[in-house]
Amino acid sequence: MSRNSMIKTVSVIIFAVLTTWSGIQFYQHRHYQLPIVAGPGVTKVVKLSDYCAGLKGTMADTHVFFLQGKEEGGKILIIANTHSNEPVAILSALVMIENARVEKGTVIIIPQFNNSGSRNTKPGDGYPLFFDVPTGWGSKKFRMGNRNASPLDQWPDPDVYVHYPERQLLSYLDVRNTNRTWPGRSDGPLMEKVTYAAMQLLREEHVDLAIDIHGAETMFPVTNCIVAPDKSMRIATIASMTVTAMEGFENHVEPSPKGFRGLSHREIGDYSDTLPFLLEAPTPFLDQPTGPKTVDLLLKGKDPFILSLSKQKKLFVPYDKSGWPMEKRVGQHCSVVLEIMHQYSMKNPDRAILVSNAPHYADLVKNGVGHYFHNPNEAKKGSLYFN
Ligand SMILES: [Zn+2]
Repeated sequence: MSRNSMIKTVSVIIFAVLTTWSGIQFYQHRHYQLPIVAGPGVTKVVKLSDYCAGLKGTMADTHVFFLQGKEEGGKILIIANTHSNEPVAILSALVMIENARVEKGTVIIIPQFNNSGSRNTKPGDGYPLFFDVPTGWGSKKFRMGNRNASPLDQWPDPDVYVHYPERQLLSYLDVRNTNRTWPGRSDGPLMEKVTYAAMQLLREEHVDLAIDIHGAETMFPVTNCIVAPDKSMRIATIASMTVTAMEGFENHVEPSPKGFRGLSHREIGDYSDTLPFLLEAPTPFLDQPTGPKTVDLLLKGKDPFILSLSKQKKLFVPYDKSGWPMEKRVGQHCSVVLEIMHQYSMKNPDRAILVSNAPHYADLVKNGVGHYFHNPNEAKKGSLYFN
């Protein structure tokens, strides 16, 4: 064998080994099933495809948890992991699913809204494939997903995404972004089917409130806030002022822009009777100028570059050496969700939603997030779900 052929053969072998090795990891990530223990408040679990048949049998289908109180009242839909690279959302949703009890009304939770996106990753940014949350019984393993659905589930992308039905021109990538494809359609691209199914759920179940939970960069002004259209503004403002005054963390309200289409807080409000809200909590992991995108950065939010930018007043949130730990972010979201429900219930007593055994900000900061997750190996028969 000539020297040239030898180099070529060795290169092909190295390439094949690396491709197989990474392929196995991507396969394991895509097919890992997250155990979710349905807590004492869960009364039924359905699939999102029950509201749009086109989702059946696809990677975009996902569980919908219902926590129905004994007494009739109002209804709220909580959506998490619209963006699966903002896992503060699914952690907050699981804290609710595994612990909350509903006394009056109904709480509906979709913990893995863009299920396909949660099985996608961002190798160019060096995203970890998984992260572990420590608990009293060991650690709970989560998939770290991406902002957009996997091209394995929805492909090819158009040159430009033409929003339906407003026809606004959006980035080609937004066709796989479930915070741009609202209100969706039953025969559109897969992610439009996901948002269409949620719209059908809101309309068929006569849902009063919808909350879409996110995380955002510390260098982005829309963070530590509730985004609300005009119709939700009064409740958002009172809820924001109350948590700021009573619970000791910063929060403000941002208006939902009227001319920017496809977002949950815009289209849910315009295309249903539901009052929408979108919550953001600071997530240093998402900022561009950070060190490596490690699990530690994701969970603790500590980064020397962000700290230095904070000293130069480049951030939109307070930031010091303690970083922005996950328990603070989850705690903020839990408190804001509970306060929005509380404010709505006070103004609409016949449509009240009363929840007990759901932790607030101070509880999460004191106990940590893992404290609220139950051991799937000890789950009661019929109460374990995989998503
Ligand atoms: Zn987001």
